[in-house]
Amino acid sequence: MTSTGAGAGPVIDLHTHSSVSDGTETPRELVAAAAAAGVDVLAITDHDTVAGWDDAADAARRHGVSLVRGIEISCAWRYSSIHLLGYLTDPDDLPLAHELARARDSRSTRLQRMVELMAADGIPLTYAEVETQVAPGATAGRPHIADALIANGTIRHRDEAFRQWLGDDSPYYVGHYAPDPVRAVELVRAAGGVPVVAHPFTRTRSGGLDEALVERMYAAGLVGLEAYHRDHGRAEVERATALADRLGLVLTGSSDYHGEGKRNRLGENTTAPEVLDAIEAASSGVTEVVRP
Ligand code: AMP
Ligand code: FE
Ligand code: FE
Ligand code: ZN
Repeated sequence: MTSTGAGAGPVIDLHTHSSVSDGTETPRELVAAAAAAGVDVLAITDHDTVAGWDDAADAARRHGVSLVRGIEISCAWRYSSIHLLGYLTDPDDLPLAHELARARDSRSTRLQRMVELMAADGIPLTYAEVETQVAPGATAGRPHIADALIANGTIRHRDEAFRQWLGDDSPYYVGHYAPDPVRAVELVRAAGGVPVVAHPFTRTRSGGLDEALVERMYAAGLVGLEAYHRDHGRAEVERATALADRLGLVLTGSSDYHGEGKRNRLGENTTAPEVLDAIEAASSGVTEVVRP
């Protein structure tokens, strides 16, 4: 566990998922779980959608938790996916909303193709089974294929599906439409939001983010890097710290909680209060932090 908060201050967890994307709890359940886990400030950051914001905000007021409304945008970069967190964007900003809708549509087609490839190879699975795992209006992703395989008794945990069939290197992997990372930074900024690269040095097919790309994202308005994350070891944290120092970026820490879908626990990594202040100050103010 890595904590930037070091005990005394508020517990600030700026990256979590609900059933509006690939988390297993509804936005209300997510907020309740955060309150029970002692999280003081929670960000809801579902993949490519703001559909959980209203329920999460309502629940945050009831539970006395502060809520940062955000999204996690999948971006296409050299045959793999870079994830960009966008905090406090204007949900009515049309260019961003359009881009997210385009990505969500393409994700459904892509899951259908992955299921066809898997089924043709004898893996017991239909697209109808996958569809029943996706909440109405939610962003569909590979974890929902895993959930269908859990439901029909083929496997026990999402992890097994990712190891065997769903990884980025799998022959069944099919990509989906996703914006370029620099364009995504521009879209978040133009929507008044604050862009932070999620788990920048997670190992991917492209070997993770390269520094030249971060510099281009910085020039487009990037504000921070998520350094403290379960996918980062000490070397990755040091790399993020050096890069942030050089460019003047803030460092965040978060759980990337997905309910039962991943082993990540709420509050296992946290963000310093002054970094949250910097994120709020960098936003346009159209979408505010919900405070109880
Ligand atoms: P997709 O958005 O369809 O490309 O799927 C990527 C998502 O799968 C990520 O956001 C993760 O939440 C999830 N994921 C990746 N690896 C694993 C794993 N080993 N176990 C559970 N979930 C995973
Ligand atoms: Fe996810
Ligand atoms: Fe991510
Ligand atoms: Zn995430």
